[in-house]
Amino acid sequence: ALQAGIVGLPNVGKSTLFNAVSKSAKAQASNYRFCTIDPNVGLVDVPDERLAKLAELVQPNRVVPTQIEIVDIAGLVRGASKGEGLGNKFLGNIREVDAIIHVIRCFEDENILRDEGAINPVSDKEIIDTELQLKDLESVEKKMSRTEKMAKTDPKAKVELEILQRCKAHLEQGKSIRELGITKEEMPAIADLFLLTIKPVLYVANVDEASMHTGNKFSEMLKESVKNEQAEVIIMNNSIEAQIAEMENPDDQQLFMEEYGMKEPALNRLIRSTYKLLTLQTYFTAGVQEVRAWTIHEGWKAPQAASVIHTDFEKGFIKAEVIAYNDFVQYGSEAACREVGKLRIEGKEYLVKDGDIMHFRFNV
Ligand code: GDP
Repeated sequence: ALQAGIVGLPNVGKSTLFNAVSKSAKAQASNYRFCTIDPNVGLVDVPDERLAKLAELVQPNRVVPTQIEIVDIAGLVRGASKGEGLGNKFLGNIREVDAIIHVIRCFEDENILRDEGAINPVSDKEIIDTELQLKDLESVEKKMSRTEKMAKTDPKAKVELEILQRCKAHLEQGKSIRELGITKEEMPAIADLFLLTIKPVLYVANVDEASMHTGNKFSEMLKESVKNEQAEVIIMNNSIEAQIAEMENPDDQQLFMEEYGMKEPALNRLIRSTYKLLTLQTYFTAGVQEVRAWTIHEGWKAPQAASVIHTDFEKGFIKAEVIAYNDFVQYGSEAACREVGKLRIEGKEYLVKDGDIMHFRFNV
């Protein structure tokens, strides 16, 4: 499964968030399963109301959501890129994830320690960004020194060097590579560096109870400062999420959420947004045995999508029977869709769409 890592300064609410995800899944009221791989890594179901709707129509023996991995990357501090604290280890952990959930403290509480003085979401974000940028700068410079010699004789290396120089200048201005607009064609020049600041990011503004629905001046500051990143800012209260997650009884949970004017845990929103951030899409299989959600990337064709179920499905792919989600719901069953001509036969070139209900035909 693809991984998203939770990062942020100490005492901003990272482990509270991670615990909320894991506990929420343990409670019987849970909307999702969570399985702990190690103390800081968990697999969590992606909540998807379409899956529930399909299950209602098909009445299968089993319903299986798709999952992503959440990693709690604690311990990033100012100076991490120079090895302060266990800085290098934590930066290494970030290198392995596919996307970043950056938690920012937007609540005041004098009992919760803070090394950085008055609450300031913008400078908190910049501290973390700077560490990641410095680390990237190190990687880029290392590769530049290797490439410089070759660039004198090899035109391909020359092009690479120019891309690296652009990255360097950008990082030196205190900007992240994700904002540089590296094209698909340029990517190979830096792909081997696994840069930290190229990873997609979303921000969690951890606000106080009173601002849960509205946000506050801190979350506004944060939003303003990330305007150019096209990154999502999710406003939530991690303590409340942890409290909801700890309740064993679904009725208690419901009551608690009603009291706070919540329709669902903010965690659901976070997990769905993280899924989108990973540019993931879902298709479904809907049989009487099992109704199941499968994860693919945007732009995948039918045979590649089939390979998620089994590698043999890709090799022996013949065709796919496809029903759009809305059609399935409108007509209520595969048979009904077939009758009204809403079941399409698609070939190898078919681009799978989010929500498609797929049935693959293949040779073994
Ligand atoms: P981490 O160091 O980022 O993992 O931070 P923790 O999740 O351990 O949280 C640090 C402290 O802040 C704990 O005592 C939490 O109970 C508290 N905390 C977390 N979220 C909130 C919040 O939304 N409001 C308040 N007032 N305290 C919070």
